[in-house]
Amino acid sequence: SIDFQALKSNLSVHVQNVRDRNSDADPEKVVQLYDRWTQMLMEVERLRSERNANAKAMKGKMEAAARAELVAQGRQLKEQLSQLEAILDEAEAELQQEAQKLPNLTHPQAPVGDEDQAVLLRSVGDRPAFSFAPKDHLALGERLGLIDFEAGARVSGAKFVYLCKAAARLEMALCNYAFQKVISKGFMPVCTPDLVRASVLQRCGFQPRAENTQVYSVEGTDMCLTGTAEVPLAGMLLDQIIPEDQLPMRMVAFGHCFRAESGSAGTASKGLYRVHQFSKVEMFIVSTEAQSEGLLSELCQIEEEIFTELGLHYKVLDMPTNDLGAPAYRKIDIEAWMPGMDRYGEISSASNCTDYQARRLNLRYRPVQSATDSPQKKTPTRFAHTLNGTACAVPRMIVAILENFQQEDGSILA
Ligand code: AMP
Repeated sequence: SIDFQALKSNLSVHVQNVRDRNSDADPEKVVQLYDRWTQMLMEVERLRSERNANAKAMKGKMEAAARAELVAQGRQLKEQLSQLEAILDEAEAELQQEAQKLPNLTHPQAPVGDEDQAVLLRSVGDRPAFSFAPKDHLALGERLGLIDFEAGARVSGAKFVYLCKAAARLEMALCNYAFQKVISKGFMPVCTPDLVRASVLQRCGFQPRAENTQVYSVEGTDMCLTGTAEVPLAGMLLDQIIPEDQLPMRMVAFGHCFRAESGSAGTASKGLYRVHQFSKVEMFIVSTEAQSEGLLSELCQIEEEIFTELGLHYKVLDMPTNDLGAPAYRKIDIEAWMPGMDRYGEISSASNCTDYQARRLNLRYRPVQSATDSPQKKTPTRFAHTLNGTACAVPRMIVAILENFQQEDGSILA
């Protein structure tokens, strides 16, 4: 349920926001479609009440000629109404399609522009010093028989990988470590479905049916493969009303992520850095409006604790408007130093989506009654806020670990 009234009364802010975020949404068109739809709805409602009045009038006693006139009128009203209802349905579908493209508003402190405008919040640890030229994770991993892209290509296709031996154990160990760490912070553990309905993805702010979508669809069904466990976690709360005293509701999920990654070939995507399927431990929080900003910092702190304990050197970045995607109001990424690739690479991302997903999911909370509220009346519900953050996306963790802890002889320090 998008707040069209708020959009109308704040139109210039939304227009600027869409420009800042380089989004293909058109808030002015949405408002035009909304106005057209409301006018049509009013006309449909007028005709419906005329039809009801006509049906009521026919119940009384009257002469045959008067009845015949009412019958003719009724027939005409019915025809008019069914024509207009069909047009109303089309207008609503068009409105929804355009409205779905609208991104969230943006935190006033988020930098405006492309990825290179990201603001460095802090840098933790130091780059390791090597007395030799460090190799990249693919060279290291293939020599040790840990990473097998050839089998992946034969069985599934390019950019699918087999992790073997210590790398397979590392995947399990990393997921277990991150899962336990996040549970120890009071998060409820969940294992989620990897296939979800396209409608749920859409309600989370993704566009599974768009032209350049990164989402895999399962042919002949309305199902998609999830790109992140954030979607089944958010979907779990569809149409829920949560009592305020249960918020913030913290959850952590293990799930597989599937990404088409169209248009992202190149050396920056080498080896495990960008694959079509990977495992991830994902944090998700439902909160009130007042709590969400502080909770974004909490998610970052947990991520940082994990990366620090793993001995990585990383940067924390406040991400700019072009990099926020549709649902995020603010996004904090962490980039780890990857010596074999000779650059920093994104290892995690935490977002405050404010009420963007909650509105589409109809996820609400009921505020606690205050002393002045009437005990007979329930307090009106409000849309919740949602947040998500990566605790551990396995492939890039393996990239960072292999590259940072490599030895001159090509072994990896355990
Ligand atoms: P995102 O949900 O897009 O914010 O991604 C969360 C994290 O998953 C990123 O910070 C990366 O560590 C990781 N990741 C994203 N896409 C891929 C991919 N195609 N292959 C491997 N890891 C990825």
